Amino acid sequence: MLYIDGQWRKSESEFNVYNPANGEVIGTAADGNKSDTKNAIEAAKTAFASWSKLTAYERSRYLYKAYEIMMERKEDLARLMTLEQGKPLKAARNEVQYGADFLLWYAEEAKRIYGEVIPAPRKDQRFIAIRQPVGVVGAITPWNYPISMITRKVAPALAAGCTVVLKPAEQTPLCAIEVFKVLADAGIPKGVVNLIPSSQPAVIGEELLTNQDVKKITFTGSTEVGKYIAEMAARNVKRVSMELGGHAPFIVFEDADPVHAAKGVSLVKFLNTGQACISPNRIFVHSSIAETFTETLMDRVRKLKAGNGLEEGVSIGPLVDEAAIEKVHLQVQDALEKGASIKLGGERLNDNGLDKGLFYSPTVLSGVTKEMRIYREETFGPVAPIITFDHDEEVIEMANDTHYGLAAYVYTQNLSKALSSFEQLNFGIIGINDINPTAAAAPFGGMKESGLGREGGREGIDEYLETKLGGFSI
Ligand code: NAD
Repeated sequence: MLYIDGQWRKSESEFNVYNPANGEVIGTAADGNKSDTKNAIEAAKTAFASWSKLTAYERSRYLYKAYEIMMERKEDLARLMTLEQGKPLKAARNEVQYGADFLLWYAEEAKRIYGEVIPAPRKDQRFIAIRQPVGVVGAITPWNYPISMITRKVAPALAAGCTVVLKPAEQTPLCAIEVFKVLADAGIPKGVVNLIPSSQPAVIGEELLTNQDVKKITFTGSTEVGKYIAEMAARNVKRVSMELGGHAPFIVFEDADPVHAAKGVSLVKFLNTGQACISPNRIFVHSSIAETFTETLMDRVRKLKAGNGLEEGVSIGPLVDEAAIEKVHLQVQDALEKGASIKLGGERLNDNGLDKGLFYSPTVLSGVTKEMRIYREETFGPVAPIITFDHDEEVIEMANDTHYGLAAYVYTQNLSKALSSFEQLNFGIIGINDINPTAAAAPFGGMKESGLGREGGREGIDEYLETKLGGFSI
């Protein structure tokens, strides 16, 4: 179903939604089209007039209610996510919690949209700057975090006083529908949030990007599509936020505990089967501890069980589609041809019924060098590429040698090394001996081609606000 102007509506056609763990059809979604998108934008425009005039306290209460409902439905939402996206149930529960956290955080931040009184150069003059919502927001979200990527946009937009038309990824429309049921059941007035699932992203995208009534585009997805969206938005001078791809370095300095660091990598690299924008894509280990590090990592990786995320003990779910498997495998083959060694994995998994799904074995590569594709291209799969280094200055330079700039990780016990790495690495999010530097309260976003703007934290709401200056002569 489409959700437009407070109503669940049918579309002219529907498309199938599949479970990537076994290829079964798990449901259908309305296939939204251009005219549905126009209607949704119109509804959002109408609703903006009244929603933006509510007090921050009133908007906050709706978000708080949505948070409570999402928490009540946590288990059902997590199960649906595992069915639709494939991540293990425990990871799905964590994501629902993370998604709900944005509703709560922005229920609070709604009340902290402050302005400024600015000293003026003339005696008879007063300056007051206030912040107002930008208007109707067009939001486009990916499949890999199908609930939290929606609330990370919708919650701050609503808190700021904006209204939203959202197009979810075609692989995960069912999670999006359930999120919108939460918002609808929280009593959010008609037209404030609108949902257009579709199997034709470009058609919906074009309407959002060219319709004069959409004032802001917020996008999470690949850098490739993000560049097109940013270019189109620029033609119409729409505000943009971009959360794009990454190629995170993970640096293990000589003084770090190699066992602790290897455990850290095994957790963050294989999270969501490597399908995370902050997934480590180059693991730099000092040569003096590389052996212990690699052995520990391999011990941990051997224990990872691939399968249907609803089964107990499974920690590796399927990849999203055939193209993803092919991309991962090509990167591994390319690395092997150029001299890397395979320590573990490196193949599609077909045994024990996995052939019906899209599984790739958790893989460890050593001897990775900068000539290899995996050194430059985002893998988005379960491959841990190890690169050894000898000098600290060299490794920071190597880590920064990418057009991506989303996340980076550093393991060291030396305070000044930690601080100087933090300062020198050109990435928006740096985990220092920490594999999960994310929370609703913290700003998330990338430098360079990993994006524009920040989501979460105090900054997240700024993306939906304009500053208006008043000059008063008295
Ligand atoms: P994608 O770019 O293929 O798709 C993202 C969204 O864009 C989907 O909703 C898709 O339908 C839509 N889309 C595709 N073409 C479009 C077009 N022409 N017009 C309008 N919309 C269009 O990315 P994906 O495969 O869904 O997600 C994986 C990528 O997302 C990875 O690169 C990952 O790093 C990135 N990502 C980034 C963050 C972050 O916060 N920086 C978070 C999650 C994912």
